Amino acid sequence: MIIVLKRGTSRETIDKFSTALKKNYDVTVNEWQGVNETVLGLIGDTVSIDIDYINAQDIVYSVKRVQEPYKKANRKFHPEDTVITLSNGAKIGDGSLSILAGPCSVESQQQVTEIAKAVKDFGATVLRGGAFKPRTSPYAFQGLKAEGLEYLKRAREETGLPIVTEIMSETDIDLFSDVDIIQVGARNMQNFSLLKRLGKLDKPILLKRGLSATIEEWLMSAEYIMAEGNQQVILCERGIRTYEKFTRNTLDLSAIPVIKKLSHLPIIIDPSHATGQSWLVEPMAMAAVAAGADGLIIEVHNDPPHALCDGAQSLTPEEFHRVVDKVRKIKSVI
Ligand code: PEP
Ligand code: MN
Repeated sequence: MIIVLKRGTSRETIDKFSTALKKNYDVTVNEWQGVNETVLGLIGDTVSIDIDYINAQDIVYSVKRVQEPYKKANRKFHPEDTVITLSNGAKIGDGSLSILAGPCSVESQQQVTEIAKAVKDFGATVLRGGAFKPRTSPYAFQGLKAEGLEYLKRAREETGLPIVTEIMSETDIDLFSDVDIIQVGARNMQNFSLLKRLGKLDKPILLKRGLSATIEEWLMSAEYIMAEGNQQVILCERGIRTYEKFTRNTLDLSAIPVIKKLSHLPIIIDPSHATGQSWLVEPMAMAAVAAGADGLIIEVHNDPPHALCDGAQSLTPEEFHRVVDKVRKIKSVI
């Protein structure tokens, strides 16, 4: 961290400030005396330093971080890739291509089981399905909640596929004890009390990128989970808000190599929520795999026009089959 002090700061004040920094944080302080300015360089564990606090000090002209504010999620401190092992032994982030697929929302036992069987036959490795649905309108279908979770577990029993499903509130956490991967949706990416609670679990967490979150904010949310002890975080890019209206969101594919550079956590891509239209899922899924994604999460419905949520972006099982074939081919040549 680089701190530029205001001109004219007295020797005594600089010394007092330096001593306080060394006392309060695990850092060494180097000082450079320029013609007009004094610059302090802090080396060590700077992640716990609140940059706003430093900026608020009377003698500080400006302050800049040179080290990322996240540590556990940072590749610098953990060079090897994190590999997540699911309850059935399947792995995410080990160089294989994970395919998470299923309906946007669980609608009935029959619906989710039928889709689970189809996606399994066509190459899915994890079954997705929302039981608690974050809808923009309070009048829209909100999900089957606890009942939906039971249907998902039943579908898991029938297919052997691990399940991933979204939690919306920490008050529901006990209902998720038997879920294989807990999803934190885009709208909850900065629900810090939820993240902290999930950090106390020994369970993989799928952390979706917020609608307008920067990559650093997203990694700081992963850090919230990891700082509490749970290192099993899978990142999911699902499109961000831009001025473009043609697609539901704008898929930030550059997030894949950027995350790979900055972090050791696996990253998967959600081309369904990123585009909002089923015909765009295939090209974006292929591009994501080409760019190095560890997996894809794709919405599949047995009857998209009658889906209770996100029908327009849902693939039929046959369309899903085609996409899986294509992405596996891409994977085999990269
Ligand atoms: C979902 O996966 O069904 C979902 C609501 O996703 P997101 O949080 O990315 O909008
Ligand atoms: Mn959806």
